[in-house]
Amino acid sequence: MANISTNAIAGLRAQIQGQVILPEDANYDEVRSIWNAMIDKRPAVIVQCATTNDVPAAIGFARQHGLELSIRGAGHNIAGNALCDGGLLIDHSKMKGVTVDTNTKRAYVEPGATLGDFDAAVQAHGLATPVGINSTTGIAGLTLGGGFGWLTRKYGMTIDALVSVDVVTAEGKQLHASQSENDDLFWAIRGGGGNFGVVTRFEFQLYPVGPEVTAGLIVFPAAQSKPLLASYRDYMESTPENFNTWVVMRQAPPLPFLPETVHGTDVLVLALFHAGAQAEAEKLIAPLRGWGDPVGEHVGAMPYVQWQQAFDPLLTPGARNYWKSHNFTELQDGLFNAMIEYAGKLPSPQCEIFIGLIAGAPNRVTPDATAWGHRDAKYVLNVHGRWAAASDDDKVIAWARAFFKASQPFASGGAYVNFMTEEEGGRVEAAYGANFARLQEIKRKYDPENVFHHNQNIKP
Ligand SMILES: Cc1cc2nc3c(=O)[nH]c(=O)nc-3n(C[C@H](O)[C@H](O)[C@H](O)COP(=O)(O)OP(=O)(O)OC[C@H]3O[C@@H](n4cnc5c(N)ncnc54)[C@H](O)[C@@H]3O)c2cc1C
Repeated sequence: MANISTNAIAGLRAQIQGQVILPEDANYDEVRSIWNAMIDKRPAVIVQCATTNDVPAAIGFARQHGLELSIRGAGHNIAGNALCDGGLLIDHSKMKGVTVDTNTKRAYVEPGATLGDFDAAVQAHGLATPVGINSTTGIAGLTLGGGFGWLTRKYGMTIDALVSVDVVTAEGKQLHASQSENDDLFWAIRGGGGNFGVVTRFEFQLYPVGPEVTAGLIVFPAAQSKPLLASYRDYMESTPENFNTWVVMRQAPPLPFLPETVHGTDVLVLALFHAGAQAEAEKLIAPLRGWGDPVGEHVGAMPYVQWQQAFDPLLTPGARNYWKSHNFTELQDGLFNAMIEYAGKLPSPQCEIFIGLIAGAPNRVTPDATAWGHRDAKYVLNVHGRWAAASDDDKVIAWARAFFKASQPFASGGAYVNFMTEEEGGRVEAAYGANFARLQEIKRKYDPENVFHHNQNIKP
């Protein structure tokens, strides 16, 4: 182990209430494993925190021993920034508490909570806030990069619902940040990733949602993509903001509602969601069926938490993954042509191209109000390369990069840090655009030595 004495480890153990996990421990591999199987890093020390007070102790230990430091929420980050080789990993997987104040409609969330933990706790009171679409994603990483999902059109980005945070800085100071306290830090944290400190508690505004929503999938043959995409463009932005539809182009998974002859064929899927009266939902959904000749449909009333888990079976950990994303203010024909071309040569059965609609509440916030500043973006596109064997790495990555390049002329610039893979370091500045200089200034104030650099790094 990297120059750390047994005595030093004993001292760390005595300082914290959580666990210190070392490479020789039985649970070491389980705790260091993350969602993207391409990333295999071996921290020298894992501090599995039990309370907020364990965090300054872990930071202090890492700095004292000259160890790299990384922070793990639920380990979903595609770039694998949660892990470091030979350094100290701060693991929050035992800090998953979510408490709800129903009077103020606020939730107080620990940094190891997944979206599933969050949704379950708040939906017990018929409440929700916009988070992502896969329940095993971590609330921490998702929020710190911006965060969007089915409720974003109506209620904004996840950061737009963030009321305050508790943060431990590089110096080990525990700070509270909100609009009225340490407001520069609060601004930077809303999109600036894990660059400024370790967040130990998030406070969110909640909104009444469900518990029943109308949601589901309508599946069309990929051959009908051109008119379908044009209809999607013409229709969706004019619909009420409690209605959302995303486009997914991929091979049909063996879903029970699809005929067997459709399984494995190229399809275009409309994934739709409506939070409101079912009769209104039915009216909004009806036109979608006429955009082509569906080969299958599974749409109906269901609990919001069930829909929030609907994509989990397609997004299990253990696969190899490579992503690239663009923002769009409008969907041009040239983009559709590129999508159709590249969805027509998927390099593995699990790859997909999707467009998520975020037009609505996020666009009503000014670009300099939060560190995430793409307030003109109405759509986020992600090319999701996903495959099983390392021998296919080059093939799938080349496909994703080629599609990314082909779709670039139609994009509005910028990027979403939460969808960036490791070697995209050069895009961090672009991801923050006009907000980058202020982020650097705040980084210099709170982390001048760049202790927190296992992230999409903003250099001080
Ligand atoms: C299957 C899947 C589906 C997704 N769907 C969506 C979606 O619908 N919408 C969306 O917006 N995004 C989505 N994402 C992207 C997601 O937001 C990012 O992957 C995010 O980083 C995941 O957060 P995490 O806590 O699980 O990640 P981790 O890998 O645990 O952490 C990511 C990084 O966040 C920082 N970090 C984590 N915890 C803390 C903390 N307490 N304090 C300071 N910094 C911290 C660290 O820099 C860390 O490296 C999805 C990702 C996956 C894999």
